[in-house]
Amino acid sequence: MRLLVPHLDSERAYDLKEVRLANAYIRAFSLTRSSPDAQRLVNWTKPKFTGRKWGSVQAVGDFASIAAEVISVRSVVTKSKGLSIDFVNENLRELSDAASFDEAVKVIKGFLNNYTAEEQKWLIKIILKDLKVGLSEDSILAVYHPDARNVFNRCNNLQKVTDELTDPHKRVTNFEITLFNPIRPMLAKRLDIGEIPKALGGKTFWMEEKLDGERIQLHKAGDKFAYYSRRAIDYTHLYGESKDEGSLTPYIYNLFNHTDSCILDGEMLAYNPIYDAFMQFGTLKTAASDMFDDPEKPRPCFVVFDVILLNNKPLNKQKYSKRREILNRMINPLRGHLQLMPYKEGKDKKDLLKALEFSIQDGQEGFIVKNPESPYQFDTRCSDWIKLKADYFDGLSDSLDLLIIGGSYGKGKRANMVGTFMCGLRVPTEDGTPKFQAFCRVGSGFTLVQQKEFHEAHNWVHYDAKNCPSWITIGKDKPDVIVQVPTTAKVVEVRASEIIQATQYPSSLTLRFPRFIKTRDDKDWTMVMTVEEMYELKKIGLQR
Ligand code: ATP
Repeated sequence: MRLLVPHLDSERAYDLKEVRLANAYIRAFSLTRSSPDAQRLVNWTKPKFTGRKWGSVQAVGDFASIAAEVISVRSVVTKSKGLSIDFVNENLRELSDAASFDEAVKVIKGFLNNYTAEEQKWLIKIILKDLKVGLSEDSILAVYHPDARNVFNRCNNLQKVTDELTDPHKRVTNFEITLFNPIRPMLAKRLDIGEIPKALGGKTFWMEEKLDGERIQLHKAGDKFAYYSRRAIDYTHLYGESKDEGSLTPYIYNLFNHTDSCILDGEMLAYNPIYDAFMQFGTLKTAASDMFDDPEKPRPCFVVFDVILLNNKPLNKQKYSKRREILNRMINPLRGHLQLMPYKEGKDKKDLLKALEFSIQDGQEGFIVKNPESPYQFDTRCSDWIKLKADYFDGLSDSLDLLIIGGSYGKGKRANMVGTFMCGLRVPTEDGTPKFQAFCRVGSGFTLVQQKEFHEAHNWVHYDAKNCPSWITIGKDKPDVIVQVPTTAKVVEVRASEIIQATQYPSSLTLRFPRFIKTRDDKDWTMVMTVEEMYELKKIGLQR
């Protein structure tokens, strides 16, 4: 499994990205750095080094294929030795255990004696944790066991999936929630305001402010704390593993009543003690690393809205209202460090409109409508949590998450760099492979520095209408270049005055006056707005 879905295997880290791998192969082959092959490896993204000499523009930007070409002319192993999966896995384990770069080079030298160039291409793909086989992780997990996806969502741990699910005919009814294994959190859906009361069964609902921070899950067992992001990134080094470390734990470790262990869900924000207010999202990490005990400096504050486990007992099946009662009893809030998310009750559209009006006046991002009767649903976007944002209702400021898929070179100060970015909408596919449609061009809202960052963050390839890759559909508006790898392209938040008809794009829609708001590093290509969602949004806009 770890060879098939390496990107889900968080236990095995190789600490080798393309550049280090290139250097490791250069050392393993004893190449001089200026030799054409060493240059090909190091400059794997640049057609000048990779394309011209070999006449294969295809391989540009695909490090594994370029490395395989370099290996194939030197390889002593020309025929596969038919090695077992166990042998391959053992070799990869040695590589991930390598304590230094020298040790990693030693393991790679071993590869040269055992694997053909083609086989090493696949080893490299596993090491880079991107197989690019056009098979989604969902398909692979589903073949392994019908509950594999669910178990993985709850524990984020591939080892646990394979340990727990040994018989594909035996379904799992009780999912284990374990401390220090980040869970994929519950998410909010977007619905038209008129549909919300009906979606919640006409019953009383709760409205909580949608705070603009970072979704964080806190795990605590005794004196040990851990903090994980929505994508299971471990931020414990920032916030503190114990009462003696970090920018948060020392201030909150003693605010728990009768709580030996727990998992809390909430939003982490930067809090400014002078203004007694939360600050912009971008300031959180600085606040977390900069505060150094200065009581006047911004600091992280965790605003809790849910409890998923208490004293080793999972609470996910309990109603939200019950979980909040438990939360109230277990936490003694402390302003600016650990707070409970306040909520208001509502029952109909009138209440929603009133809350929205308040939210807009108060400059809030919006709010989340929650069903107090609902259980905690992992990694699910269902109508028990519905987000309502002020900008959904302001025709002049619809904010959309799009993927950078291409661009055109700029002029003047912005020459030599991609100056306008073509953004795309996602087209969901059955096998989960990426597919995007050109949708609009964004050329304003970013600084020169941001433009440079965008330019450098992508591998650009010349756009050739006759040889267009299958993941992208371009209309009449043609870019100079497109990104090589859509799965690593940046997701950007874009705002515009309205959605308008446009014949030059495949969806026949585009944006009027689009401008860049911010990069969404917390999102990847799978979270980009779909063509369907855009049509839906256009419909809502027209009804207004
Ligand atoms: P958006 O792009 O609209 O900001 P999103 O795609 O990041 O939203 P959603 O699942 O659509 O994520 O919205 C829920 C997110 O809102 C959570 O992941 C969390 O970070 C944030 N949030 C802020 N306040 C709350 C709250 N009171 N309850 C739940 N989530 C909240």
